[in-house]
Amino acid sequence: MSKRGKALILIGDGLGDWPVAALGDRTPLEAAQRPNMNRLAAEGVSGIMDPIAPGVRAGSDTAHLAMLGYDPFEVYTGRGPFEAMGIGLDVRQGDVAFRCNFATVDDHLTVIDRRAGRIEHGTDQLAAALNGMVIEDVTVLFKESVAHRAGMILRGPGLGDKVTDADPHNEGLQVPEVTGADEPSRKTARVLNEFVRRSYQILRDHPVNAKRASEGLNPANIALPRGAGYAPHLGSFEEHTHLTSACIVEVGLVKGIGRYLSMDVIDVPGATGGLDTDVMAIGSAVIEALQTHDFVLCNVKGPDVAGHDNNPSAKVEIIERIDQMLGMILQDIPPETYIVVTGDHSTPCAYMDHSGDPVPLVLWGPGVRVDDVTDFGERTAAKGGMGRIRGKDILMILTGFLGVQEKFGA
Ligand code: ZN
Ligand code: ZN
Repeated sequence: MSKRGKALILIGDGLGDWPVAALGDRTPLEAAQRPNMNRLAAEGVSGIMDPIAPGVRAGSDTAHLAMLGYDPFEVYTGRGPFEAMGIGLDVRQGDVAFRCNFATVDDHLTVIDRRAGRIEHGTDQLAAALNGMVIEDVTVLFKESVAHRAGMILRGPGLGDKVTDADPHNEGLQVPEVTGADEPSRKTARVLNEFVRRSYQILRDHPVNAKRASEGLNPANIALPRGAGYAPHLGSFEEHTHLTSACIVEVGLVKGIGRYLSMDVIDVPGATGGLDTDVMAIGSAVIEALQTHDFVLCNVKGPDVAGHDNNPSAKVEIIERIDQMLGMILQDIPPETYIVVTGDHSTPCAYMDHSGDPVPLVLWGPGVRVDDVTDFGERTAAKGGMGRIRGKDILMILTGFLGVQEKFGA
């Protein structure tokens, strides 16, 4: 076994689509000018990929976990830790993560409004007032999300996640005492109960709430955690693959996954995550990262945005720009680089959400078994030599080519 070559997985987020009448019954990918993707198809091997399994509507988080070689059915313990990553909390393996509401309670801690008047502004200041609290030997990391929502993680030794919610889930009820089902979870429960109590003390008199009171709005005077989830022990990407890796992605959630797996997460100025993103800046970062890492994961978010917006022409345009970025990368890659171009799921414009369809995929690089497919699209890729694979197969295929995979058997 000797390591050779490098690999890039280039993902157009939500790339897959359905034929669109306005595009002459072609998909946005099929309608796009894509000379560089077509070159990879002509010189490489194509196929279609089910990010998770056939028919499963993948999220970006589960799909990326799969493409990084983890079986999401095994490692995805729930939304808590991944949602916390998504809002920018630095979740680490072993943390316990929660979803939280800012709520309104009276002096007896009876919940009057579970959404604190659907508060829109000032939650960043409220969250900052709670963030960094230390209870026993546990640190609380707290961050606002949209509206009345927030995320929280508890970091410290010996914590469990088998705890009840601090949220009564109904108005007119008192904030319940959290209980734990085992010894580590009883510690978590103790910390949570203290956190909720202190959150009320801190938020009750916070200037944001004083202002709300003066405007006749319900104050966000308590934080109620629920949905505890243990951040799973996945190890690092390098431990699993023997590859050094970089992650150049626009979606906060996927950045979080990269950090979680100890990949080098590289922020690119100009990468907005929108349709106006600077793909050439992203491409330059990819070229640079390939000089210093064995493996680079790159995700451009735009196609998913256009899919959710049911905007086929915008999807065509961002795919064309991704193709130009690919052209730039192809001019400047180290020798023996393998490139996979695919999507993390389909976001058909007509569906405006992630569908269970497979996505097209092409693999290009030295020694791949070239097939007869000469252009890159949903329908052509389905005729390719790779057949139909799952997201978690990609990394196995790449590690085989990169010479970092042990033989299975004699
Ligand atoms: Zn996605
Ligand atoms: Zn999406």
